[in-house]
Amino acid sequence: MDLQTSIKWMELFNEKVQANKALLIELDTPIGDSDHGSNMSRGMQHVIEALEAKAPESAADLLKTVAMQLLSKVGGASGPLYGSAFLNMSKAEHQGLSIAEVVKEGLAGIQKRGKAEVGEKTMVDVWSPVVADLEANSLTVESVKAAVEATKDTKATKGRASYVGDRSIGHIDPGSYSSGLLFEAMIEAGV
Ligand code: ADP
Ligand code: MG
Ligand code: MG
Repeated sequence: MDLQTSIKWMELFNEKVQANKALLIELDTPIGDSDHGSNMSRGMQHVIEALEAKAPESAADLLKTVAMQLLSKVGGASGPLYGSAFLNMSKAEHQGLSIAEVVKEGLAGIQKRGKAEVGEKTMVDVWSPVVADLEANSLTVESVKAAVEATKDTKATKGRASYVGDRSIGHIDPGSYSSGLLFEAMIEAGV
């Protein structure tokens, strides 16, 4: 991954997170504690500040900075989960792996920490089909949006949303929505 492309990816992700902060809060209200928008907004603000304070030397370096900021500045479930994803992606990028393999390592980091499988209404429900689409060279904004939308019909069995049981059905998962923004930004940046 080219350094400039990876910078563009994170800038676009930040823009999308800030623009969708209210929506992410709204999605985290019926099935959570209404903080996913503030968590991601704060985290990405720290990411951008850290990248401005010290210019990354490579895409792997950039991904590591993102990981460290999200791990240390975002509370709740999503900080450590995104942090693990970016840390693994940084290592994979450092090894010169393909983007499909890099994102696949990110997913492995999320699953190692959060123990969620596909269908439990978590961000895994977006990361997993995105990995499959990247491997098949068929990832599009539409396929990302479809994966996010599909979380609406599932029942949460992991994370805070599992506390509301059947009442989680009918709502899009907030972490899946923010992950969708990450992958739309990835496509737009031309990663
Ligand atoms: P919290 O739930 O602690 O308030 P956030 O609201 O920031 O944290 O993030 C919630 C999101 O985290 C969920 O929408 C879901 O996508 C994701 N999540 C929660 N638990 C898990 C898990 N075990 N594995 C993967 N993702 C998870
Ligand atoms: Mg929350
Ligand atoms: Mg919380």
